[in-house]
Amino acid sequence: LTEPRLTTPRVLSRPEHNLSRSGISAHALKVLYRLHNAGYQAYLVGGGVRDLLIGGRPKDFDVGTNARPEEVRRLFRNSRIIGRRFRLVHVLFRDEVVEVSTFRASPEAPEPPEDWEEQERSEREDEAADGRHLAPVSDERVYGTPGEDAWRRDLTINALFYDISNYSVIDWVGGIEDLRAGVVRTVGVPTVRFEEDPVRMMRALEYAVRLGFDLEPETRDGIAASRDHLLEVSPARLTYEFLEAARSGSAESIWAGWRCHGVVDVAYPEIGGCDGHDRVLGTIDQLIGDGFRLPDASILGGLFVPRAAALLDELTRDGQRLHNPTYMEALKDLLAPTALRMAFSNHTNHQVFHGLFTLSKFRHPPERGRQVVKMVRHPDFPVAWDLARLAGRMGCLPEEVVTAWTKAVDQVRRTPKGQEPSLGLEEGQRPRRRRRRRPRRRRRSE
Ligand code: ATP
Ligand code: MG
Repeated sequence: LTEPRLTTPRVLSRPEHNLSRSGISAHALKVLYRLHNAGYQAYLVGGGVRDLLIGGRPKDFDVGTNARPEEVRRLFRNSRIIGRRFRLVHVLFRDEVVEVSTFRASPEAPEPPEDWEEQERSEREDEAADGRHLAPVSDERVYGTPGEDAWRRDLTINALFYDISNYSVIDWVGGIEDLRAGVVRTVGVPTVRFEEDPVRMMRALEYAVRLGFDLEPETRDGIAASRDHLLEVSPARLTYEFLEAARSGSAESIWAGWRCHGVVDVAYPEIGGCDGHDRVLGTIDQLIGDGFRLPDASILGGLFVPRAAALLDELTRDGQRLHNPTYMEALKDLLAPTALRMAFSNHTNHQVFHGLFTLSKFRHPPERGRQVVKMVRHPDFPVAWDLARLAGRMGCLPEEVVTAWTKAVDQVRRTPKGQEPSLGLEEGQRPRRRRRRRPRRRRRSE
């Protein structure tokens, strides 16, 4: 590496900073102390340190240590090793996962979580099979010192360490100054770091938006110069990054930042050109702000809600009855290009399709109790229901209809399985249409 590095870090002792242990989750503290007591270095790293230093509430806690993954694994019964190339340890608690990573020297891109999408996994298997570059690197080249680990991180504000042995904050890269000044700056030379891993451009913009920080000028110019490198990033990783941004609750403004810096045009050409997209993200932000936890399929499916609603309007114009097969065909055509570009897994694709198809049922109030129960207890219902609420908030479904459904759905969910919920809907309010029996066709082979 040609870039200058600090050979000694700046260390802020406990009285010189405001990071208090009380902001760290009990589980993360337990992990830190157990590593420390076993004789290892144990640091809180990444976003947790950043957020606590500016008085925010971290989303999760990551721990850095000089213990090797197997050693960490041995200290925590409730843990598992994940990742192939760079192995991390997840210490699992009932409602929290603390990620423990061994200090690394490698500046290469991190992998998305292993269990994320099937497609990416098989892609990686293919690459591994033809021996391109995924053979595990020998431990000695992967692992490194704390200084090297700070250096391989994306942004200076994300590279600070909090040392549990003496409660000091350790800064190898100038992150403290940048945090105080409200500046987003890459660790090292921006164009070099962006070429190494183009997703860092998206992350730089994301944190500038989320924290209300300024982009340091060289970092900003680096994005303009390097954004075409985003074409080299795998679809699955781009989608993962998109989902992370969406889950942050600031999706609309992050997207605007990405758009303004030319990232959308390169990374998400299909969805970038669609009307109503910003409105969807704004509505997702609202739902997340209200405490909803949206699974991937609900976020990705949400992108199609305005277009699916427009399709439904078109197919039922002048009081026409909806012809389900036509709607299904049109939905397939609508989904296919984006599903391909964003490498949806089969499961995600199925849930998105089912959810959008089910939107057609939410255009009228619930009618028959039994039908509602069957729908609500269907395994794919949660995503469909998220999409319906999203559509309701966006004005793509009549508000009073969504309210009526909300009552019915809550009622079904409150009723224990095996019991009939009383929905106040008269069974058979509408005479059931008699199905005309089609003569059964004999199978040839019989
Ligand atoms: P938050 O979880 O609030 O989004 P975070 O900073 O913890 O913020 P993560 O995605 O959890 O973000 O990543 C944890 C840390 O890993 C980051 O703080 C950063 O130091 C490092 N990191 C993440 N992605 C990259 C990357 N592409 N290149 C280099 N380092 C990265
Ligand atoms: Mg994090």
